Amino acid sequence: MSDQRYLPDDEYTREFEASVTSVDEADRTVVLDGTYFYKEGGGQPADHGSLSWDDGSARVVDVRQDHGEIRHTLDGDLPEPGITIHGELDWERRYAHMRYHTAQHVVSKVVLDEFGASTAGNQIHTDRARIDFEPAEFDADDLRTIERLSNDQIEQDLSVEKSRRSRDALETETPDGRTNLDLIPDHVDPLRAVTIGDVDVCPCGGTHVDSLGELGRIEIIDRTSKGADIDRIEFVLDDSG
Ligand SMILES: [Zn+2]
Repeated sequence: MSDQRYLPDDEYTREFEASVTSVDEADRTVVLDGTYFYKEGGGQPADHGSLSWDDGSARVVDVRQDHGEIRHTLDGDLPEPGITIHGELDWERRYAHMRYHTAQHVVSKVVLDEFGASTAGNQIHTDRARIDFEPAEFDADDLRTIERLSNDQIEQDLSVEKSRRSRDALETETPDGRTNLDLIPDHVDPLRAVTIGDVDVCPCGGTHVDSLGELGRIEIIDRTSKGADIDRIEFVLDDSG
């Protein structure tokens, strides 16, 4: 198993040292004994960045999990197994994902509380995000309500805490309809929990900011129907104000 060093709450580290556990020359992937790179998953894209060592360097262009190992796909040189590398995240990309992923939690909980709709899927980008809600059929007033309630929480600059919690505790604390814990294999215990103020608790392995003030303002830019019971909302964050 590769060590995901950003867990449970070290998401602001952008540079690190690690040693190379294995190298796959055909796939041009390397496994490290620990990494701060986020692997694609849960609607959040992989981190990008670079690895460098004594006599070489490469760009990290993809990161994926394969049988418990985190594989970094490299464009450039390939390091030898056993050496120490210096890793550096593309911080602009990672931080954008942290902001949009945290905003997704805020909007998902607001919609659950106000409309009783659960999050059926989501996709984060560096400049926008979308969430599919079910069952849902929002009108223009509903969208303004979701925006206003989400921005109220951001203006309160609520804290975002990440911790390891027992599965039992999370099963009790996670609001009904917030997430389906049954989809997470039984042997995963403890789980990583993301808690926003006293408003929301949710198991999640993604990367998030430390306080909602970092989000700026949420603006919903699109709503589309994705079938009988599913509505998709797309939003952007504006930090100019
Ligand atoms: Zn999350």
